Amino acid sequence: MSESAFWSFIRSALRQKSRWWKPITQCKLEAKRAYKGPLKRQKFEYQCNECKGWFPEKKINVDHIQPAGSLNCAADLGPFVERLFCEQENLQVLCETCHNIKTQKEKTKK
Ligand SMILES: [Zn+2]
Repeated sequence: MSESAFWSFIRSALRQKSRWWKPITQCKLEAKRAYKGPLKRQKFEYQCNECKGWFPEKKINVDHIQPAGSLNCAADLGPFVERLFCEQENLQVLCETCHNIKTQKEKTKK
């Protein structure tokens, strides 16, 4: 396994686990409401903090306002974990579209 494959493996493991981080589940919970539209299988919907639209769970992301950043070496690990497992003030629910726009902006900033 190459160095970069190794760190990408660790990164995705940490990201997966962060879905069960309390401030993240709490953030999602606060953006959630009962769905009353025509789709029979959809029970809940979530509000995007950017466009204020309502979306099914599959179409939303809990976004780190201050991104967790890169994890490419052992020295990145500490700061990455601290940013990933952050407090709720640094979290927001975004729809796919708004999340992609934000991610693109963050990439071009560098
Ligand atoms: Zn949105």
